[in-house]
Amino acid sequence: MNPAVDTGTRRKAVLLLSGGLDSATCLAIARDEGYDCYALSFDYGQRHHAELAAAQRVSQALGVLEHKVIQLDLRDIGGSALTDSTIDVPTEQADGIPVTYVPARNTVFLALALGWAEVLGAQDIFIGVNAVDYSGYPDCRPEFIAAFEQMANLATKASVEGYPFQIHTPLIHLTKAEIIQRGIALGVDYSSTVSCYNADIAGLACGCCDSCSLRLQGFCMAGVNDPTKYRKKRN
Ligand code: ZN
Repeated sequence: MNPAVDTGTRRKAVLLLSGGLDSATCLAIARDEGYDCYALSFDYGQRHHAELAAAQRVSQALGVLEHKVIQLDLRDIGGSALTDSTIDVPTEQADGIPVTYVPARNTVFLALALGWAEVLGAQDIFIGVNAVDYSGYPDCRPEFIAAFEQMANLATKASVEGYPFQIHTPLIHLTKAEIIQRGIALGVDYSSTVSCYNADIAGLACGCCDSCSLRLQGFCMAGVNDPTKYRKKRN
């Protein structure tokens, strides 16, 4: 018996929480499925801290048992518009994988979520990746998640002792509009989330980066009023 595993009826889950729309919805789904939720965010040298403040608000609103923020400065590696101030965030969509891709980010984040899950005695990890309305990042695809889960179950003491891990991706095949509709049905307040790559210190969105475009289209397609706070009034 793994002494860390809760013998009660509720199971623990670790969730990656960025403070954006997708991860907030993912958290609401995990909670709705009956998990005791432990949220994990990263202060990774991203362009702005508004998303960490958003993650804190979302954690409180959705009743996580613990919200941990790990300091991990990915600017030491750079290579992304989100972690290198000399690379601008594009305001138009380009062909291929955009420069907002952060090298190996989900691999690194999931690895730390796996470590924390093992310590907590949690066998379930949730990540709000999406492979429909997304920017084409390779570490958001189902093949990557399946490979990571397989690796996790080779790498850990818990799995070897009979407590395997499952990586849950409840949003992976949903459109952005479907994600928003699901979240609203579960009571997510999207006005407290921040998706913009270029948000200012108050969390006001630029309205023109790739992430803003996907979010804006999502609310439009969902037929839901967009509660995002923009720096400029949109027409
Ligand atoms: Zn933006």
